[in-house]
Amino acid sequence: MLVETAPAAPETIRVNALHALNYCQRLYYLEEVEELYTQDAAVFAGRRLHVELEKNEGDEWHQLVLESADLGLRGKVDALRTRNGQTIPCEHKRRRCYRDQNNKSQAWQSDRIQVLAYACLIEAELGITVPEGRIRYHADNVLVHVPLDEKARQDVRDSIHQARQLRLSPERPPVTSNERLCVRCSLAPVCLPEETRLAQGKADQAVRLFPEDDERQVIHVTEAGTRVGKSGEQFKITKRDGATTTIPSRQVGQMILHGYAQISTQAMYFCADQEVGLHFVSAGGRYLGSFDTRQGSIQRRIRQYRALTDPNLCLQLARQLVTCRGQSQRKFLMRGQRSAEVANEALEQTIEQMQRTLKQVPQADSLASLLGLEGNLAALYFGALPHLISENIAAELGFSGRNRRPPKDCFNAMLSFGYAMLLKDVMNAILAVGLEPTLGFYHQPRTQAPPLALDLMEIFRVPLVDMPVMASVSAMTFVTRSAGGRPTSC
Ligand code: SF4
Repeated sequence: MLVETAPAAPETIRVNALHALNYCQRLYYLEEVEELYTQDAAVFAGRRLHVELEKNEGDEWHQLVLESADLGLRGKVDALRTRNGQTIPCEHKRRRCYRDQNNKSQAWQSDRIQVLAYACLIEAELGITVPEGRIRYHADNVLVHVPLDEKARQDVRDSIHQARQLRLSPERPPVTSNERLCVRCSLAPVCLPEETRLAQGKADQAVRLFPEDDERQVIHVTEAGTRVGKSGEQFKITKRDGATTTIPSRQVGQMILHGYAQISTQAMYFCADQEVGLHFVSAGGRYLGSFDTRQGSIQRRIRQYRALTDPNLCLQLARQLVTCRGQSQRKFLMRGQRSAEVANEALEQTIEQMQRTLKQVPQADSLASLLGLEGNLAALYFGALPHLISENIAAELGFSGRNRRPPKDCFNAMLSFGYAMLLKDVMNAILAVGLEPTLGFYHQPRTQAPPLALDLMEIFRVPLVDMPVMASVSAMTFVTRSAGGRPTSC
């Protein structure tokens, strides 16, 4: 017997998603289709504003969660007020209002659609007439009235239709042509609008190649027997002797457990929920792994798979990677050469040899030959690195060549620990954007370290590890010389 089933009703669209759509189509797509969310200082400040208002306005503040299948919308109306017998949804925004050509206060289009969508939702679900929505812009203390007329209703319907169409698209919309929107956008560190415009030749120079500082802390739990738990909205860290520290989750970006520290299941769930990266490092400083919550859309991984199963693209990316790392190594040596009081012939020769090797990289026709060139560059670089270290350095801080697994001296131990921390940070970024860490383009899966993380960390080894290690050793040399002593351990 054939049983006919009614087609499933399309999923309703969140009102906040319509706000994102009217801000930037790409923002809507990243959040709603690829499920990428980030929380920057502005997001937290917006939440704090709502909490404060809720606290101050007490009985005046009503919230309502509504969903209308007919309209295709759902959302939580933050503040619902009754004025002269009429129900009015209100929105609160930290920013200034929009000023039109006549300097008249207006709502921004994304805010307008948001408050109108709430008004339509209330009408549809409560069966009452809503004359308008209101938006209070706190930066300039302006209240904007947004009438709910026929045009406004049509604008909301058009937005819902556009949101549904965009959900079906397999491709991300392009970055917005209005660069000012990107400056305020919380997803800019993931969307990379300036880098995209630069790559497309639409900008001569990227204004900001690095995302803004993430002010959240990276917590290292290093003492054996320390337990990480959850208490309300905070992480609770308890040492063996019972000493306890609590840290609000919004202040934590990553939690790193070294050696034999413990974490409860509840705290792990909390990390996943609050998007706090959770990583494990051995007592000896080796990166062990990360808690992978598999967040994010499968579409991104499918695109990654499509791209990185193309051998030509992999070879092209790998050439750029080897060039980038080799150039940063060579530039570091050149910097040391410039600051040296006496010309160092051996160093000069190495720099020239590296240049000759780097010229061969674009012609490499296989990953195997690239590995050979990369090996040559690394041997030249690490062979020359001792030339940058002061002769007055304490013997135990000296460097005579790279060794690892395990590192045999202080300098190599510092390098290995730095690379382990870098690997952890790169893994954190890969997991945060929902890519597949085991699918890279250059490194092959030989160790437990994921190939994509190994690939990407190459770019950062010199600036984020080698240079700070060298600077630390030089500083230690300076301090011990000034104090007339020598370090006894590292
Ligand atoms: S950074 Fe710019 S292009 Fe990217 S989502 Fe945000 S507003 Fe849109």
